[in-house]
Amino acid sequence: MSKTVKIASIYPTLLGTYGDGGNVAALRHIAALHGITVSVEEISPGQKVPANADIYVLGGGEDTAQSAAAAALHESGALAEGVKNGAAVLSICAGYQILGHTFLDAEGKPSAGLGLLDVTTDRLEKRAVGELVAHPLSSGPAGISAVLTGYENHGGFTHLGSGVEPFASVTSGIGNGDGTTEGAINGRVIGTYLHGPCLVRNPQVAEQLLSWAVGRKLEHIVEAEVEALRRERLDFVTKNR
Ligand code: GLN
Repeated sequence: MSKTVKIASIYPTLLGTYGDGGNVAALRHIAALHGITVSVEEISPGQKVPANADIYVLGGGEDTAQSAAAAALHESGALAEGVKNGAAVLSICAGYQILGHTFLDAEGKPSAGLGLLDVTTDRLEKRAVGELVAHPLSSGPAGISAVLTGYENHGGFTHLGSGVEPFASVTSGIGNGDGTTEGAINGRVIGTYLHGPCLVRNPQVAEQLLSWAVGRKLEHIVEAEVEALRRERLDFVTKNR
């Protein structure tokens, strides 16, 4: 009997502005297709963040909610402990920025992030809004080969330090800020600007997170509906480029 994968959804009421709850639903669904049992804990602000989750999911949020989430995570310290214990993390937009060293708050003042990814975020000249298409890099997880799609909606420009690799390379859209790299990865910690929700549109990323959690490689089960959705978005982006 294989273990139950423990998924912690971090502060969905603060970091769940962009349909991010769909990422947890996707993990649950794709895990079931692979015969993997999961437990999901949704952590509200004020509740204890578990340090023993296998996968942490952090979504996007507005500036004020982002600062509140960062403050609560600083106080808890559990996410850093979880990462030290080998947990996988999917962090999107505000969640991604929080994992870095610094990001800007609603007033444009630098705020301390958790320092779990070697990135810093300042401001884009113009907010990045629209479809984002990116290709995984050969330096990234071997389990992710599909073209990645999502949409982005952020004012942050994220600069990568030497302690991370880009998660993907941008084909269309802005990504981290200059239209070249998208997201960042270090070990099992992924930061990305792919909203959408990311895992619904990119099931290989969900399979990678689950495979880290169960300690074995998973075959890709790309459902017809996901493939159809992917095609539709790629056609849309190509036509409107
Ligand atoms: N507030 C952050 C920004 O605008 C994050 C936005 C988001 O999570 N979509 O950069």
